[in-house]
Amino acid sequence: MSFDSLGLKAELLRAVGEQGYTRPTPIQEKAIPAMLAGRDLMASAQTGTGKTAAFTLPLLQKLSDQTGPRKLRALILTPTRELAAQVHENLRAYGRHLNLKSLEVFGGVNINPQMDKLRRGIDVLIATPGRLIDHIERGTVRLDGIEMLILDEADRMLDMGFRPAIDRILKHVPKKRQTLLFSATFSKEISALAHQFLKDPLRIET
Ligand code: AMP
Repeated sequence: MSFDSLGLKAELLRAVGEQGYTRPTPIQEKAIPAMLAGRDLMASAQTGTGKTAAFTLPLLQKLSDQTGPRKLRALILTPTRELAAQVHENLRAYGRHLNLKSLEVFGGVNINPQMDKLRRGIDVLIATPGRLIDHIERGTVRLDGIEMLILDEADRMLDMGFRPAIDRILKHVPKKRQTLLFSATFSKEISALAHQFLKDPLRIET
């Protein structure tokens, strides 16, 4: 299968070509058309499977298809600052021919520059749960326009004790949204998380 048959727009295919990718990985073949079609999905995916492009490419496409004033419409939760930075780097690379703004926020660094950037307006936020709660409490982020929510490495987030933080964050995100959950492993706890926050998800095993 080629990238051309997945339904992605020219600007994204160009960026993918510039990355040197010739063929979608199995998870990309399944996840990209499903996400473009609006499905919730839960995928078992290790790092290295191409999972980041599997959700960032359709996310960028859906954001760029709708014009209007810039507002925060997509939220990606990651367990660590390293993963947040990595996801952000991917978003930048794939979105380089689109006019979208993204920001990463994580703890352990000064919050003020993050607040300034949030105030100036972004389309996509990549966040670790603790720092996002900090922003919610300060009133420096609004999640009521979120249309797409990605839980990346959900098993690691649970292992790190972020379940209460996820519950709190989700209270601020509209119920009408598209939700994707990625996890290397599937436990009872992950199934419970999926049951609570996903609607009729397509299951993808890789
Ligand atoms: P990930 O699983 O998202 O951490 O991605 C692992 C690595 O695979 C990253 O370095 C990506 O740049 C790369 N990658 C993602 N999709 C493809 C693809 N279709 N072809 C070749 N490399 C890819």
